[in-house]
Amino acid sequence: MITFDKALARMLAAARPLGLEQVPFGETIGRVLAEDVRADTDMPPFAKSAMDGFACRRADLPGPLRVVEEIPAGRMPQHAIGPGEAARIMTGAPVPQGADCVLMIEDTVEETDGRVRFTGERTADNLCLRGEDVRQGEVVLPAGSLLGTAHLAVLAAVGKIEVAVARRPRVGIIATGSELVEPDDTPQGAMIRNSNSPQLLTQAALAGAAVKYYGIVADDPGATRAAIARARDENDVVVLSGGVSAGDFDYVPAALADCGYRIVFDSVAMQPGRPTVFGELADGVGWCVGLPGNPVSTYVIFELMLHPFLLGLQGHAWRPREVEAVLDEDVRRRNVKRQAAMPVRFSKPGRVRLIEYHGSGHIAAMTVAEGLVFLPVGCAELKAGERVRVRVFSDARTGGYSP
Ligand code: AMP
Ligand code: MG
Repeated sequence: MITFDKALARMLAAARPLGLEQVPFGETIGRVLAEDVRADTDMPPFAKSAMDGFACRRADLPGPLRVVEEIPAGRMPQHAIGPGEAARIMTGAPVPQGADCVLMIEDTVEETDGRVRFTGERTADNLCLRGEDVRQGEVVLPAGSLLGTAHLAVLAAVGKIEVAVARRPRVGIIATGSELVEPDDTPQGAMIRNSNSPQLLTQAALAGAAVKYYGIVADDPGATRAAIARARDENDVVVLSGGVSAGDFDYVPAALADCGYRIVFDSVAMQPGRPTVFGELADGVGWCVGLPGNPVSTYVIFELMLHPFLLGLQGHAWRPREVEAVLDEDVRRRNVKRQAAMPVRFSKPGRVRLIEYHGSGHIAAMTVAEGLVFLPVGCAELKAGERVRVRVFSDARTGGYSP
């Protein structure tokens, strides 16, 4: 059994980018940028007004000022502003030569002769200077950025319509267990529905993977081997759930070894998630992860280990977000041989409480959990009022409060 930190470090050390591909900028959400993106112009590209009002010379205030033209957004000024002059200007329009400030319309009165007078006490410049956000040629998005909607806006603003991103890791998902039926079936007798596969397929896709599903495999060594071999040949990573414990029908670790994977670890000092298996093909360009079948173990180990691993395969050093919080209540446990991850939610900003949690089969508990608090190996208790680090789930549904 190795520590959780060591196990994670080994997985991340094995992860390396798989190459890159060009995609249209609208399809980059959740992808990792594989090139530096530079601004093709200054941003803003010209000095522009931040307000609707009057462009003028501060020295001439409070006026009255003669209005020489009107400058809407999208039109170049036709006049320079001289002494005693102003131009009516709209937000986003270029500021005329000679003007050093824009009076907000709310701070002005227009007199009957058409002149305008400043009625405020003082005015800000209300100008956006050319290049004040970004200079032409400057890197606006560095390689390795995980792209979200703000990044999409920047790609659009600099006209970067084709973008090099890390190739998606191809991930094949296999469920093992003779007790499993698919969600559209009604389980009879000793059967249960397969909840791990839909969850894993979606978790992996959200982490940037190209996912492929290989169905349910019965607890049978030959069938398990055949499914793994097929998924191995068609993917970069094979992810299985179930069949990794020490039970009589747990064939996954041996089948992985039979399929050419060198097992890096098969037991992690983590609760939940102890029998997690990680392996690598001899040529170092294929990996396997065997997750415990218990749905909470699968959910948690994906989040803590596979999510950073899949982003590592895209060249991004993603880690779950961590925040500090104070415990509302005591947390206790008996077995201290493993690090424990306890599901919690925020009771208010900076405070967490345990959720009702019956163990690693209780997946419904994860729908209200917002993150995990760890009890290290050897630690039996954390006291109410203690400061802890909370590993926040990447898709935590915070009840109106987001830490
Ligand atoms: P195993 O790791 O195969 O020993 O399975 C541990 C527990 O998780 C058992 O109660 C299984 O029935 C359950 N389980 C295994 N695979 C799945 C799955 N795909 N969906 C839901 N529960 C599962
Ligand atoms: Mg099983």
